[in-house]
Amino acid sequence: MENQKRTAREILTGYQGRPIRIMEVCGTHTHEIFRLGIRGLLSPDIHLISGPGCPVCVTPVDFIDEAVWLALERGVTICTFGDLVRVPGSRMSLAGARAKGAEVRVVYSPLDAAEHAEAHPEKEVVFLSVGFETTTPSSCLAVQMAMERGLKNFSLLTANKTMPAAYEAMAGATDLFLYPGHVHAITGTGDCRRMAEKGVSGVIAGFTAREILTALAVGVARFREGEPFFANCYPRVVTDEGAPAAVRLVNGMMEPCDARWRGIGVMKDSGMKLKEAYGAYDARVRYGIPAMEGRENPACRCGEVLQGRCLPSDCKVFGRGCTPEHPIGACMVSGEGACSAFYLYSQG
Ligand code: SF4
Repeated sequence: MENQKRTAREILTGYQGRPIRIMEVCGTHTHEIFRLGIRGLLSPDIHLISGPGCPVCVTPVDFIDEAVWLALERGVTICTFGDLVRVPGSRMSLAGARAKGAEVRVVYSPLDAAEHAEAHPEKEVVFLSVGFETTTPSSCLAVQMAMERGLKNFSLLTANKTMPAAYEAMAGATDLFLYPGHVHAITGTGDCRRMAEKGVSGVIAGFTAREILTALAVGVARFREGEPFFANCYPRVVTDEGAPAAVRLVNGMMEPCDARWRGIGVMKDSGMKLKEAYGAYDARVRYGIPAMEGRENPACRCGEVLQGRCLPSDCKVFGRGCTPEHPIGACMVSGEGACSAFYLYSQG
C-alpha cells in the first residue's frame, strides 16, 4: 500500500506536459478533494474543475418558485432535504415562505415524507424530489409505499436528473471526467464506456482519500498514453451491470423528460418524471402549478461555476456578499456546492 501511495503521489506531483483538465462531476468529490488538501499536491499542469454534480446546485430557480407557490398558495406541507430550504427563489426561498407561515419540514428521506403524510391525513404533503440516479429510486419507493397504504395526500414535485446528458454537455470543458462512484453503483459502467468510445476519457472514483488519489493517478497516467480510455477505480462498489433492481424500479414508474439545469439550460431527456399512470402522485398534475419563469440574482455566477467556466473566487460577491451564512446562490448553500467548498477550505 505504501508503494501504491507513493506511486500515486509521484504521478500526481511529477506530471509534466500538456496541461490536463479533470472535472469532478460530484459535489462530494469536490468537497473531499478540498478537505483532504489534494489540490495542493497536484502538479501545476493538472487542473481540477468542478462540474454540475451537486443536485441542489443544478436545481433551477423555477423549481424553488413552484415549491414556494405550493406552500403559500395551496397551503401544502413541503418536505425536503435541508439544503434546499435556503436556496434563493425568484422572490423568496422556502425559508422565506416558512417565515410567512408556510409549513416546510426537513426530512432525511422521501419515506419520512410519506410517513408524515400518513400520520397527518388532514394535510397535503409534497416531497421535493431532487437528485441524480442515486436518490431517484427512494422517491419511487415512497410513491409505492403511498400506494400500498392508500395515501391520498402525498405527492412528489420532481426535479430528478440523469448524468449522461451532463457528461455530453461538459465533454468539451474537460480532458478527463472523475465520474461519481455512487451514480455508477446504480447505472453500471455502460455510460462511461460509451463516452470513451466517443473520445472522452474518464475514471470512476470512490470517496476515500486513497480511492480519490488512485483514480486521479490512474487517470493522469492513462491520459499520458494519449488514447481515450475508461477505468473503473471503484470496483468494490461499482460493477458493469450496476443495480438492475433499482434501475427497473425507476424505469417502471418514471420516464425521461427534458429538464432545466441551473446555468446550463434545458437538456433533452436529462430529467425523470412520474409516468402518467402515477399522475395522482405528481404534484404538478395534482395542483395545476402554473408555469414559473425563475429569475436568478444577476450577481450570481453559479451557472458558469457549474460548467467549469469560472472559479467561485472569480465571482465578485464570493466571500463578501455571498457566504454560507448569507448565500446568494445555490452553490454557496449546498453542502456539496463548489462555492461553499472554496469558501470553507480556501479561507486562510
Ligand atoms: S459566490 Fe455566491 S453568488 Fe457567486 S457564484 Fe457562488 S453562489 Fe453564486
